[in-house]
Amino acid sequence: MFEDKNIAKTSLEDLGEFGLIEQIAQGFQPKQNSTIKGIGDDAAVLDYKTEKTVVSSEIFVEGIHFRWDYMPLRHLGYKVAMATVSDIIAMNATPKQLLVNIALSNRFTVEAVDEIYNGIKYACDKLELDLVGGDTSSSVTGLTLSLTAIGSAPEENLVYRTGAQQNDLIVVSGDLGGAFLGLQVLEREAQVTKINPNNKPDFENYTYLIERQLKPEARRDVLQILKELEVKPSSMIDISDGLASELIHLSKHSGFGIQIYEEKIPLDPSVIRTAEEFSINPITCALNGGEDYELLFTIAQQDFEKIKGNPHFSVIGFVGEKGSENYLITKGNQSKVPLVAQGWTANES
Ligand code: ADP
Ligand code: MG
Repeated sequence: MFEDKNIAKTSLEDLGEFGLIEQIAQGFQPKQNSTIKGIGDDAAVLDYKTEKTVVSSEIFVEGIHFRWDYMPLRHLGYKVAMATVSDIIAMNATPKQLLVNIALSNRFTVEAVDEIYNGIKYACDKLELDLVGGDTSSSVTGLTLSLTAIGSAPEENLVYRTGAQQNDLIVVSGDLGGAFLGLQVLEREAQVTKINPNNKPDFENYTYLIERQLKPEARRDVLQILKELEVKPSSMIDISDGLASELIHLSKHSGFGIQIYEEKIPLDPSVIRTAEEFSINPITCALNGGEDYELLFTIAQQDFEKIKGNPHFSVIGFVGEKGSENYLITKGNQSKVPLVAQGWTANES
């Protein structure tokens, strides 16, 4: 899974910036009706007709957001694309176009750039996204990627962070904490490999966690499921920084306090098992871990019947009174722990 040492190495200088862009563009033919002009002119041209345009950017800096000694470049490309469109999805909008800005030091080869774009392409194919532009630059050290995703939705479909109402239910898709633990496993193996280069990492027991870290999925499918169930969330956000900080965002933007139940937080069995191995509370991984890219949203109580028992969703709490505190009720109604964005350590084993 780490970089293949046998593939050819072409320096970026050999190909030149224009050659590189041309090579990148070849793999991406626009498919969306809303793309009037993609890569190739000074700017892309889009047409959303009656729908509203939804735009969001992310930046990924080597050493800050990723390290590619354990993040294969193809996975990096896939992940940055998924992370960027996740914000469009969290507005209940459909992502349609992507722009990719990339700054590379000369230690990167053409083949390495291809690997990144192969990952981006895989994500684009999966979500039917058009790559419509970007910019390319050299950098003194390391790799920086900045992506912009563009999408659209009818105005009445848009869901903001502000909309939660008192007594709404708080719902989360999928399960949490996996991406954080996947990173712990990868970092541990990278440390071992540093000391013993012949180390053959054995990831068999951690495939789900590593996949959550290296190949996260933006939950566009959740929007479709909600549409079919005829549920429109009152507020929504994607979980990129950990459940606690996203809950605090929903609370701040709406003005209502939030209460969640520890025992309702969805955890995969491998999250529980691996957290124990690392002597971390699995709930801490879910609250503060981040990078799960699940959706967190609020719904009116009368919509409960529609999502009840749905395997994609967990109801984890409810919206309290205006201005009330945000807290987590620990297992068996034992105690109330205030929710803070980082460093929640109560019960840590
Ligand atoms: P300019 O000098 O006007 O910035 P460029 O030569 O950088 O033009 O870009 C030419 C075309 O290639 C534009 O459509 C631009 O959006 C696209 N492009 C440039 N770099 C990238 C990239 N890294 N990924 C995708 N498209 C790119
Ligand atoms: Mg340019």
